[in-house]
Amino acid sequence: MAFLPQERLVPLLTLLSDRMEVVAPILVEGVPVFASWSGQPLALKDNPLMPPQEFFLPQREVLFRYIQDCGSYSFEEAAGKARLIFGIRPCDLRALAVLDRIFGSDPMDQSYFDKRRSTVLVALNCNEPGENCFCDHLGFGPTCSEAVDLQLTEIDKGYLVESGSPAGILILKEHPEFFLETSQSHLLEKCEMLGQAREAMNSCIARSLPGIKEAIKKADWNALGRTCLNCGSCTFVCPVCHCFTIQDLGVPDGERMRCRDTCLLSGFSRMAGGANPRISQGDRMQNWYLDKFEYIPQRTGLLGCVGCGRCSRVCLAEMDRWSLEVKR
Ligand code: SF4
Ligand code: SF4
Repeated sequence: MAFLPQERLVPLLTLLSDRMEVVAPILVEGVPVFASWSGQPLALKDNPLMPPQEFFLPQREVLFRYIQDCGSYSFEEAAGKARLIFGIRPCDLRALAVLDRIFGSDPMDQSYFDKRRSTVLVALNCNEPGENCFCDHLGFGPTCSEAVDLQLTEIDKGYLVESGSPAGILILKEHPEFFLETSQSHLLEKCEMLGQAREAMNSCIARSLPGIKEAIKKADWNALGRTCLNCGSCTFVCPVCHCFTIQDLGVPDGERMRCRDTCLLSGFSRMAGGANPRISQGDRMQNWYLDKFEYIPQRTGLLGCVGCGRCSRVCLAEMDRWSLEVKR
């Protein structure tokens, strides 16, 4: 554990960026996004709308190239790139733990884990949760509950830095000139800050786990399906959603592409011949909620929602209101 004075954060990241790509929240056209960092001002107030999961499961990626030679194929895979993601929040870290279990089940997803293994994660605990955040109501946050290389908590004049892996310890040991010793008061300050964050979090009871499960049971899915605009935005910003489709582009040589997809759109469940087991938008919405609160927990032991509130932030139809209305 160490104390990192505020003014030493950027010099430390600059040093680390000499040996790996540093990704951090920065402003792009006034909006915070996780992007490659090369000294731009950090945007650490709000968690970006697009989660850092994009660096493990991109919108589009080449899984491998295939080359045909005399009737047999050889394959070329891209190597993982050394990267450090700075500023990942506890909810997105939890979402990565869910994805690790999903992509780690047999057969393991090589492309996902190549990126996971070559990425150092530096988390930032949430002192000021956003107005849509409800991680605390799902039993974790606003501090990290998952293993992470380093976790930072902003306290007076700097950050309390805690290491959680050999990679994190190495950063502390290799660069002692950036860090100061911690005192008991730093730890007390951290507890106080995070206690205040929990209190500040939206205390709406309909966002507690029993409230959500009750709302799923009582919902009129046909009516909700008619309200939904079928845009899929809620799934594309969700750090846990991971539907994808695969295409082979090129004959006889070419690339196997993976593109993000969403179970909220009818094409995702449509089968050869045109049959579709989830024909209406209401069916697809119900499946989405059940996946998050029943099916993913059965498969992984963790909820498929981490309470980041992004789906509420992005939905033009304000679908979020229904769960509150059903509860009443
Ligand atoms: S963002 Fe809202 S309108 Fe769009 S698919 Fe999701 S629930 Fe429907
Ligand atoms: S369902 Fe909504 S609140 Fe839950 S993790 Fe996905 S985007 Fe966040």
